[in-house]
Amino acid sequence: MGMQSRRNIIIAGGNFAGLMAARSLSPRHYQVTLLDPAKDFEWYPNIHELVSRQKKPAQLRHSRQHILDRLGHSFAMTAVSSIERAAKRILTADGRSLPYDDLILAIGNTGNIDRIPGAREHALPCDNIANAERIGQQLQRLDALALPARNIVLVGANFVGLELLGEIIRRYRRQWRFTLHVVDALPAMMPGYRDLDGWFRELCAGLDIQWHPGRKVMSVARDAVTLDNGVELESRLTLWCAGDVPHPLPASAGLADPGRYAPVRPTLQSVHDDHVWIAGDASRFPIPLDKQAFHAMAMGSLIASNLRRRRQARPPAEYRPLPIPRLLSFGDTGLMLFKSHALAHPGFLAAKEGVYQGNFSRFNLPRESREWRELGENVLDSALNMTRLAKRSWEERTWLDARRFEAF
Ligand SMILES: Cc1cc2nc3c(=O)[nH]c(=O)nc-3n(C[C@H](O)[C@H](O)[C@H](O)COP(=O)(O)OP(=O)(O)OC[C@H]3O[C@@H](n4cnc5c(N)ncnc54)[C@H](O)[C@@H]3O)c2cc1C
Repeated sequence: MGMQSRRNIIIAGGNFAGLMAARSLSPRHYQVTLLDPAKDFEWYPNIHELVSRQKKPAQLRHSRQHILDRLGHSFAMTAVSSIERAAKRILTADGRSLPYDDLILAIGNTGNIDRIPGAREHALPCDNIANAERIGQQLQRLDALALPARNIVLVGANFVGLELLGEIIRRYRRQWRFTLHVVDALPAMMPGYRDLDGWFRELCAGLDIQWHPGRKVMSVARDAVTLDNGVELESRLTLWCAGDVPHPLPASAGLADPGRYAPVRPTLQSVHDDHVWIAGDASRFPIPLDKQAFHAMAMGSLIASNLRRRRQARPPAEYRPLPIPRLLSFGDTGLMLFKSHALAHPGFLAAKEGVYQGNFSRFNLPRESREWRELGENVLDSALNMTRLAKRSWEERTWLDARRFEAF
């Protein structure tokens, strides 16, 4: 096939899902342009470790330009501002109009920080490398100030908030000088598992940490956070980990209802348009899926494979989500979360590190080689084997330190 007959693929968003799709498309058959307003690919699942300085920013990012150059594709550092589906073209924030044969939307989701008055101006989200670095610096500054009270409010105690809390404790536990308020709308931390809330609180015992479960934040000011019961918490540093909302772009293009994620078929094509493929956090799969990097990566690869299948006049394959447990770090220990139960053990930190080590470098390779794909899969297998080992040894009481929490 000559270069002239290459199909024109636009990928909006160049993180887990978008880059995985780009990596799996050959420049011999596809003219691929990936657009993202930010310069670097960032490995979000470990950015909380910047706060405790377990990792440095350079260990968590790759240059998108560099990756795309090596793949033989084009990178444009700009956002897709609108999609004209009838004309099959996108418009960009810097004024370009680009046609496509197929469009891959891998734009993730956005934080809900703009929904609460004052939060954007006065709170710091833990949503990218620059902000995680800022959080680390602000904590250091606050710790060094000669103040009677060093108050911090952490809004959101789900995955991101808990991992951040764990790192703050890891860094400052020995000389704890903060008063830290943890606010969450849910009645308990990880309420889906029996006793897990108590386990987190046990790990925080002896530190001045005050819990505000079942409370919503109504507004954020420079030095205070107001809760829905009227209580005003003094705050020198407000950290925002209160969750995500759908990206507005799919709804603006008629690919989703306003404020909802974009529905896809099992093949990852939009239910509204066979030439728009949606991967990762931006998509709403027919069965509910966690917004997780491993789904985003696998979805990006499947879309590339379905584009190849279409070129070969073969029917598209369906996405089959693997029952992979979620891994969560909490300072010096870790959790593996299954649907039916959760296991806690410091060894799971190694599993999380293994997933990062095994996959992060793959993004920077010139091509998705079989060897590297297998290595990445082996890392996942190791993590799964570790969970099986922990489960078995917990049942047989040979791994005495593993704690188990049943799901409700
Ligand atoms: C702090 C944190 C910790 C996490 N921990 C874990 C974990 O331990 N395990 C796990 O599996 N998952 C974890 N996640 C979730 C995981 O990071 C997401 O599921 C994953 O990033 C989704 O990948 P994605 O490619 O769909 O979207 P994203 O990674 O969000 O990438 C979307 C990309 O689209 C770009 N973009 C946005 N708008 C536009 C536009 N208009 N035009 C072009 N580009 C655009 C963005 O700049 C971004 O680069 C974590 C997330 C965070 C924030």
